[in-house]
Amino acid sequence: MDNVCPEETPCAEELKLPGMIEMAKNLMKDSGKIVSSALQGNKTLVEDEIREHRISICRVCPKFTPEERCTECGCFMKVKVAFVTSVCPIGKW
Ligand code: SF4
Repeated sequence: MDNVCPEETPCAEELKLPGMIEMAKNLMKDSGKIVSSALQGNKTLVEDEIREHRISICRVCPKFTPEERCTECGCFMKVKVAFVTSVCPIGKW
């Protein structure tokens, strides 16, 4: 029997998160951007519509896991989409 996933259903290997070091680096980088922006007096959170728009793009992305994490950055997307400084690592939003 072939070990092939249906095209629309990402297999477990495709939904593998980055390693712990990579995720820690991403978290540090994103946190730094948020703090830096806040220290400059900029707002840190996006409006609800932008947050909803971003998460709607993630929900149909093949890199979005059932636990609502992104396999590119390892982030919890419900949290990440809320910040002004956040970006999709592959440019989808
Ligand atoms: S952040 Fe980008 S790559 Fe990650 S799940 Fe969302 S759309 Fe996909």
